[in-house]
Amino acid sequence: MKWLIDSDTSKLEFVREVEEESGIKIFACYQCSKCSAGCPIAFEMDYLPNQIIRMAQLGMKERVLASRTIWLCAGCETCTTRCPREVDLAAVMDALRIIALREKVKPSERDVQLFNKIFLSTVRKYGRVFEGEMIGRFNISSGHLFKDIFKAPKLLKRGRLKIFPALTDVKKMKDIFKGTEDI
Ligand code: SF4
Ligand code: SF4
Repeated sequence: MKWLIDSDTSKLEFVREVEEESGIKIFACYQCSKCSAGCPIAFEMDYLPNQIIRMAQLGMKERVLASRTIWLCAGCETCTTRCPREVDLAAVMDALRIIALREKVKPSERDVQLFNKIFLSTVRKYGRVFEGEMIGRFNISSGHLFKDIFKAPKLLKRGRLKIFPALTDVKKMKDIFKGTEDI
């Protein structure tokens, strides 16, 4: 007897939630692991990207949302590019973070929400990220006062870190933020 498992037959609420939020059919994944083999952050993750999607297929909501993996994912889209089934795993990871925040699941990566908040506030303020202010505010707020401080001179010398922010179309960026608040 053939037994087809997909999001319609599984009736798993979590599967529907992830698919709605990401726009991706997660049952397209057939566990080839190509995503995990190419993921540059996999060595730090508690579950590999293909394991996350498998757990999502099985409706293991609590374990997926409590994982470090969803917060460590850098959104680089290597997995998305490598997937032979065109599963946009980067979008699935985004969706999982959104669901975790909505359900107030405490991120298992310390300071991740703080970093996210400060990153977005500098983008909102200057139209693009201003690393100098972002790192300073993050270090003060997180209590890691001297984190990466000794890398600053080298980065300044190479032009990778600016003393003043490079302003872009700030108004346009503020309108984009306002638009997301209205959703
Ligand atoms: S590469 Fe695609 S099909 Fe393969 S395990 Fe990853 S998500 Fe699934
Ligand atoms: S998007 Fe995330 S899961 Fe995919 S390869 Fe990049 S870091 Fe890994």
